[in-house]
Amino acid sequence: MKPEGWQAQRRIETDYDRAIRRLIQRTWQIIGIDPDLLSPWDFVRRLERLANTGSFDHFALATAKRMITQTFFDTAQTWREAARGGSKGRLIYEVLRQEMQGPVGNMVYVLIDRNAGIIRSMPFDLASQATLYIQEQTAEGKRPEQIAQELLQKFPHMSAKKAALIARTEASKSHTALIQARSDRLGLAWYVWRTSQDGRVRSSHKHMEGVLCRFDTPPSPELLADEKNVGSYNAGEIYNCRCYPEPLIDITDISWPHKVHYGGQIVRMSKEQFRKVA
Ligand SMILES: [Zn+2]
Repeated sequence: MKPEGWQAQRRIETDYDRAIRRLIQRTWQIIGIDPDLLSPWDFVRRLERLANTGSFDHFALATAKRMITQTFFDTAQTWREAARGGSKGRLIYEVLRQEMQGPVGNMVYVLIDRNAGIIRSMPFDLASQATLYIQEQTAEGKRPEQIAQELLQKFPHMSAKKAALIARTEASKSHTALIQARSDRLGLAWYVWRTSQDGRVRSSHKHMEGVLCRFDTPPSPELLADEKNVGSYNAGEIYNCRCYPEPLIDITDISWPHKVHYGGQIVRMSKEQFRKVA
């Protein structure tokens, strides 16, 4: 039995995006925005101060925890559906029942940690972006007060863009990481690369749709598409990617012959050929 729900719920990403933005806004309000800000460097200092407040730390952790918990339950639901009637049904139920004590539970904590860290570093990233802007504009002879005002105006857009990138990239990465951790526990080495099938799928991922891949030997989609290599990674593991892995639970779940990423290439294999290499 193959469930259709392996794709991450968009709601998790949009919730995460909104929460990160709210966090920046709220803390920004605590520190206070001075409309008469004279020095652009004061803007940078405030941003860094924002990052060092205890409340920012606290909310960063809470925000990360919420997204990972949502992803955890969302994907558990899909596994439960996969277990229904499938040959590995009992095993899947068993793994789900005790997973918080094992490697899947560990992965949950790793992911919360990683995401909290990324949110915490966001004000510093914005501060270095602002620093670069100040240097460029100063070199062009602009007055400090003017640069400061421009920064205040740019800030909402700057932070919203950053929040959206973090939310999209990290929600997707966490989704893949949890599917992989549960697959590992079940001894499932292969997955089908799925794209979100909308107009925004990057060209190098389009040809990955439907390809069988191994979690421990990820492909380089760019290299396979004769584009500039940006490394090997699994579905959903690169910035702005909404692709996702669909674990191959049973060899009969897919049609044969099938496209397989094997030996650094995409080859067409029969069920028998695949059985020999799998
Ligand atoms: Zn993708």
